[in-house]
Amino acid sequence: MPSDAPIVTRRPDHATVPPDQAAGPAPSPAPASAYAPHRKIHPKAVRGRYRRVKTLLGVVLLALFAVIPWLRWDRGPGLPDQAVLFDLGSQRFYIFALQLWPQHVYYITGVMILAAIGLFLATALGGRVWCGFTCPQTVWTDLFVWVERRVEGDRGDRIRLDRHPWTAGWLAKKTVKHAAWLAVSLVTGFLGIAYLTDAPTLAADLLRFDAPALAAGSVLFVAACTYAMAGFMREQMCFYVCPWPRIQAAMLDEDSLVVTYQEWRGEGRAPLRKSEGWDTRTDKGYGDCIDCGQCVQVCPTGIDIRDGIQMECIGCGLCVDACNDVMARIGRPGDLIRFDTLTAQAAKAAATIQPAKATAAPPPRYRLIRPRTIVYGLMLVVVGGLMAIALALRSSNDISVLRDRAPLFVTLNDGRIQNAYTIKIANMSLVDRHYRLTLAGLPQASLSLSGDGTEAGTLSLSARANAVETYRIQVRVPQAALTESSTPVTVTLTPDTGDGQPVRHDSVFLAP
Ligand code: SF4
Ligand code: SF4
Repeated sequence: MPSDAPIVTRRPDHATVPPDQAAGPAPSPAPASAYAPHRKIHPKAVRGRYRRVKTLLGVVLLALFAVIPWLRWDRGPGLPDQAVLFDLGSQRFYIFALQLWPQHVYYITGVMILAAIGLFLATALGGRVWCGFTCPQTVWTDLFVWVERRVEGDRGDRIRLDRHPWTAGWLAKKTVKHAAWLAVSLVTGFLGIAYLTDAPTLAADLLRFDAPALAAGSVLFVAACTYAMAGFMREQMCFYVCPWPRIQAAMLDEDSLVVTYQEWRGEGRAPLRKSEGWDTRTDKGYGDCIDCGQCVQVCPTGIDIRDGIQMECIGCGLCVDACNDVMARIGRPGDLIRFDTLTAQAAKAAATIQPAKATAAPPPRYRLIRPRTIVYGLMLVVVGGLMAIALALRSSNDISVLRDRAPLFVTLNDGRIQNAYTIKIANMSLVDRHYRLTLAGLPQASLSLSGDGTEAGTLSLSARANAVETYRIQVRVPQAALTESSTPVTVTLTPDTGDGQPVRHDSVFLAP
């Protein structure tokens, strides 16, 4: 610094002021904004291994999402024939041959637990592979960026277009892009709701503008979310909405594969001059990074992976492709940015500082099997096994018994005590069934259906396939046979037909 250069003083808010103004009480610093200004990201197109994997996975996942609602599965007359249907109205989930009732809610809980453990395992093995390759936010954002690129061009064209004053050409491109985005969003909204209702019927109703308001509103809501999240919010969903980036830190260890910049090889970075050979660069202390910025320009979250592992990195590997392309063009070995473990990174860096150690101890190999992955793997096997057993042994019948509370009991003319119960029989099979209903705990009890005076020790009831039938029954017991004012009883429902297992429900019989 020249001796006559003014000396500057930095205030806490980093405002730079000349020294003559630095004396005396400093004015209150302006309050810092709680919000970072939004910086629009224009990811550049890239070719390479991870781009191909992302594209392939995206196409497969989008195709599955689009095709599944149209698959049919014959369940018999009166039942929906959509292979995968989450019918919220009738509270049934149909997944091919599997049918889940509200009674089976624990399977859904189990599936969510399995998905969470699977995500933990995938993160421990490969970092944020879910975020980078298969998360719906990533897949739809990729699709929207692809549309944007087809209409407005690659990164440079899009940046220029955004800075361009409004012209007819500008307006035409923006209109085409947003129309295409809206079309994709509406199709997504329709397909999303098609999982909740019969897809062909919904399609026909929507085309006739005759869909129920709830269905049409739901389609529009999902479409609006898709348009906003994949068209505008994009990486902000990952930064500010999704909790996973915060949670994943606990899932990673130093042996997890994450996207890393091989700093020990890349630094110091400096642009490549044609006149300069690699030996000259090396002598000047420069590494393989030519500071071209390609890894930053292709990044969908706009970060610089050379700054180290960051929460914003979704592990998509596009910067690996971009840098490998640059390395190939300048004749240097690839993988300056690569999926690697922190353990391997530290060993390579140490070997670079002390080359003698490099030959004595080669970089550690990736450890697939380690305590964390073993625990997650075991949890997957145990929870998956328990769910499979529970699914195989689940009953296709269910009974609920609700005792009348007003009155609690009735004393009949003949001196017997009567309690009334409402019985609900859920026949979760695809065939009509007949049942025998018995009562244990009251040896002298007689049962009768409400409205039918016939009394017997057991009752014959029936339930239609895939339906809940409601019966009201009366139980009568001689007062002399009752020793307590409250006697525990067990109602047992045994299927006479079909292969269902007996089901039981405990209740009480009340007396004076
Ligand atoms: S793409 Fe490679 S060479 Fe270019 S700035 Fe990134 S790390 Fe350096
Ligand atoms: S830094 Fe690389 S891996 Fe991470 S999000 Fe950006 S492009 Fe993807």
